[in-house]
Amino acid sequence: MHTPLCRHAVGEPTELAAQAVRLGFSEIGFSDHNPMSRDDWDDWRMFRADLDTYVAKVEQARRDHPNLIIRLALEVDYIPGQEAWIRELAARHPWDYLIGAVHYVSDSWDLDNPTRISEWKKRDPFEVWTAYFDRLTMAVESGLFEIIAHADLCKKFCYYPKDDCTPLFAKFISAAKKHDVAMELNTAGLRKDCKEIYPSPQLVGMAAAAGVPITFASDAHAPGEVGANFTEAIALARSAGYTEWCRFTGRKREMVKL
Ligand SMILES: [Zn+2]
Ligand SMILES: [Zn+2]
Repeated sequence: MHTPLCRHAVGEPTELAAQAVRLGFSEIGFSDHNPMSRDDWDDWRMFRADLDTYVAKVEQARRDHPNLIIRLALEVDYIPGQEAWIRELAARHPWDYLIGAVHYVSDSWDLDNPTRISEWKKRDPFEVWTAYFDRLTMAVESGLFEIIAHADLCKKFCYYPKDDCTPLFAKFISAAKKHDVAMELNTAGLRKDCKEIYPSPQLVGMAAAAGVPITFASDAHAPGEVGANFTEAIALARSAGYTEWCRFTGRKREMVKL
């Protein structure tokens, strides 16, 4: 879940935690968008100087809601060349998990950014999806992350390739299995043009067959989105054959019966 520090979310951590308690959750996690090495990278993440404030706000939510387990995490943009910066961030606070996310298919194009949608019209969707899944596979292989975010974010605006993407998915899934990285079932996709959980039933089925563990994410950017559509996410996991999901404490994984 996100916080106002990333400049495109509403609701303080303690408010999102209060909503989770109302909904009956026993455990939640905050994973706001990481600061980049340069604050002028883009305008949809926390500033470098806000990282300590972010941690303090999550700690405040823990104090306000002592019966709720609250995990401290980050959603970290994987961009080739930024590995040293990501390691530096990883060492700064006692994170429960780091979610590796690909939004950028080049240093300058974040393919899910609504203000950059015109870029899609200049490109062949298959080329973009190929670049996206290549980076996602690199993120898995980097060893920097416990979980991979919204594994087919490239479908957000419905620029679907005509070509068969199964080989791209297969490469990513086998890397996730090999490097022991989990994949989230992220319900934010249902709130976007694609109207489908990230990732698709095909990808979730391939992940289940390969034995890639899963987590559940609402990717809430507002209190009203906490736990959104978890019934559908659990149904998707079950229909793919999952009987377990996983949680993380201090970057260590634990399997939980579904
Ligand atoms: Zn966001
Ligand atoms: Zn994201």
